[in-house]
Amino acid sequence: MQLQQSLKIYNSLSGKKEIFRPINKGHVGMYVCGPTVYSNVHLGNCRTFMSFDMIFRYLKHLGYKVRYVRNITDAGHLVDDAEDGEDKIAKKARLEQLEPMEVVQRYTVDFHNILQQFNFLPPSIEPTATGHIIEQIETIKDILQKGYAYEANGSVYFDVAKFNETNEYGKLSGRKLEDMITNTRELTAQEEKKSPQDFALWKKAEPQHIMRWPSPWGDGFPGWHLECTAMSTKYLGETFDIHGGGMDLKFPHHECEIAQSEASTGQSPVNYWLHANMLTMNGKKMAKSTGNNILPGEIFTGDNEILSKAFSPSVVRFFMMQAHYTSILDLSNDALLASEKGFNKLMDAVESIKNIETGGKSDFDVTGWKQQCYDAMNDNFNTPILIAKLFDAVKHINLVKEGKATLTQEDKEAVQATLHAFIFDVLGLENKNDSTDDSDKLSGVVELLIELRKEARNNKDFATSDKIRDQLTDMGIQLKDGKEGTTFSLS
Ligand code: AMP
Ligand code: ZN
Repeated sequence: MQLQQSLKIYNSLSGKKEIFRPINKGHVGMYVCGPTVYSNVHLGNCRTFMSFDMIFRYLKHLGYKVRYVRNITDAGHLVDDAEDGEDKIAKKARLEQLEPMEVVQRYTVDFHNILQQFNFLPPSIEPTATGHIIEQIETIKDILQKGYAYEANGSVYFDVAKFNETNEYGKLSGRKLEDMITNTRELTAQEEKKSPQDFALWKKAEPQHIMRWPSPWGDGFPGWHLECTAMSTKYLGETFDIHGGGMDLKFPHHECEIAQSEASTGQSPVNYWLHANMLTMNGKKMAKSTGNNILPGEIFTGDNEILSKAFSPSVVRFFMMQAHYTSILDLSNDALLASEKGFNKLMDAVESIKNIETGGKSDFDVTGWKQQCYDAMNDNFNTPILIAKLFDAVKHINLVKEGKATLTQEDKEAVQATLHAFIFDVLGLENKNDSTDDSDKLSGVVELLIELRKEARNNKDFATSDKIRDQLTDMGIQLKDGKEGTTFSLS
């Protein structure tokens, strides 16, 4: 509990690091805006989700019971992120002649597959926008009834000016409504909004719009910002602990979420707003729209024009964790090569500590070191400092290995447990040697079966020898009898 109390989080709303105090002791409610599933996730998207996976892991490590909600945006996100243009998913469906739900299914599967390769923990709930149309309509009715929205020609818009009379629109992004008004174009005559700052809660579906649902205002679809308000309220309550997302979502998306919630419930929805910074490539934001992006799969296979070789998911993860989640990080071949070196060094130390000889005394302050690891993470999840601390232990392990330093058995076990907790549980890295261990174990088991089969044949027990061969074949393991004995291959 003492460690939990000292956790400090940078709150984008206050612009300060604050001591984390959850609403319900021992429990954390966390909502993170998920992907819009109209294309493959690029590495930039993965960075934001990975930052929150690390935060989820650390909160769990501290002993909190975390309800982590990360949604899937499968409707309502328009091409230009504002009120105009086609729905991103509907556009993709039209271009590829697919049902919108085929597009959603394809890219949701891709998203899960990539996250699994990166060793993400699944969220507690992964709700979809299309699965919560009823809740969204109810939220709109509520906001209309409270006078903060108006209907126009089958669409419903949030009345920003009205809201700003009693609340502060722009408090998260630091924008002032007056400045926004000065800097925006005039409304054209055919626009339904009272003011360009107003945003859609519900949009009327034109006849050709394929993603549509019935509502009290006619057939249409929900505005993008609304789904997160409806789903976070449903699963985490009117006010919850943490809301996260990429920096680029602060405005308008999160600003609008705050406005919707405050208009509907009269309460501030979130106690701690967390924003993860962007991954860049060649100094520019990685983005789908500009083509300045790389897919995780292209990195894992090496099938790309940007990097000199393939890099494993854990190396890429380690590269991400070497930067603080609030700093910009630039992807480059050199940076990945350096991360790979560092990652291998860390994994070598995890292996070699198993076999080091212990002594009667330690010349490494394990308790102090462990506290420094927690201090780093408690200071707004500072993973680069944590990693530097982990390398202090690596250095000592290597000295002990060379006979230049000592460690008692008790301290060795404490270092091992702490390294394990931070490297695998908190940072979410995977030891490549563990998978080698698994394949070594598999080889051992198959060799044993080959030996038993040989014995059975020598005893003319062909029923048993055939059973072993046939069942291995069914499992995808082929035995091949040759002059040198029996070998096996995996199909
Ligand atoms: P989207 O699917 O476009 O809604 O984006 C999903 C998430 O990825 C959002 O939280 C974005 O903020 C985040 N994101 C998009 N581009 C980047 C980037 N280059 N670096 C980090 N996060 C990003
Ligand atoms: Zn959202």
